[in-house]
Amino acid sequence: MHLGHVHGALLNWKKLQDEYECFYAIVDWHALTSEYANPEIIGESIYDIAMDWISVGLDPEISPFFIQSHIKEHAELHLILSMITPLSWLERNPTYKEQLRELTQRDIYTYGFLGYPVLQAADILMYKANGVPVGKDQAPHVELTREIARRFNHFYGEVFPIPALLLTPTSKILGIDRRKMSKSYNNAIFLTDTDEVIDTKVGQMITDPQRARRNDPGRPEICNVFTFHEIYSDPETVSKIDNECRSAGIGCVECKRLMAASLKTGLEPMRAKRKELETDTNKIREIIEQGNIRARAVARETMAEVREAVKI
Ligand code: SF4
Repeated sequence: MHLGHVHGALLNWKKLQDEYECFYAIVDWHALTSEYANPEIIGESIYDIAMDWISVGLDPEISPFFIQSHIKEHAELHLILSMITPLSWLERNPTYKEQLRELTQRDIYTYGFLGYPVLQAADILMYKANGVPVGKDQAPHVELTREIARRFNHFYGEVFPIPALLLTPTSKILGIDRRKMSKSYNNAIFLTDTDEVIDTKVGQMITDPQRARRNDPGRPEICNVFTFHEIYSDPETVSKIDNECRSAGIGCVECKRLMAASLKTGLEPMRAKRKELETDTNKIREIIEQGNIRARAVARETMAEVREAVKI
């Protein structure tokens, strides 16, 4: 996980676990829709994901973590929902069209990839979710889930609540090249980066493009380095940088050095927790197994209701 994930989703999930009963799924079948030719990387990622989640403060005792493919009921619900989902709903999905355009190195003209949102609907409806926390780009998928739930309830009776969209505020943090932070853009700072790697990446960060020389005044409000300062530095430092950047009192090299120090201090608790977890992978397996048991119990109840409703 990189800092875009941390600030774009995980810290929001951490807040939600105090307000809602939450289930967090590691969706390995979804990963298979695009990574079907390299399935080994999916298995390797599962435990990394769980460790990252715990490192940022998600608590598996409060909110179970489970592996989608270990709860076979998801496949059964997916199958039933696929019977009632019109093909046109999937074909008009904007994310599907966008990914066909973007993921040109993979052949994703498959039945599974087109049906991805139906599997996602099964994941959500299985737990009778009242809300789904997603970014703006995933909103059409939740809308599709709502339509599928309504259609199911219309045919077979009221089984599923219609889940609300809990829109996650967009993270202000950008990648080191000022594009959206993404592993595939090679511009991300990861939780697992060492101090040296963080120093190098911060040193490469693009700042205010108008500040070409040391004596030029800068505009912190458009500078990504300053955004990091606002999150990781103390208020006194933030205000000092704000003033000194505008008056060219501080250079970008020094400003980045201060930011890298704050960033490393801010990340330290998460990185220390992650290192500690890496030494005990059996514990992570146990945490996920416990989560699987809790998720499976709910899934079995839902599927019993679904079978009764569908009369099969
Ligand atoms: Fe950005 Fe800091 Fe340079 Fe100002 S001094 S442009 S805030 S890096």
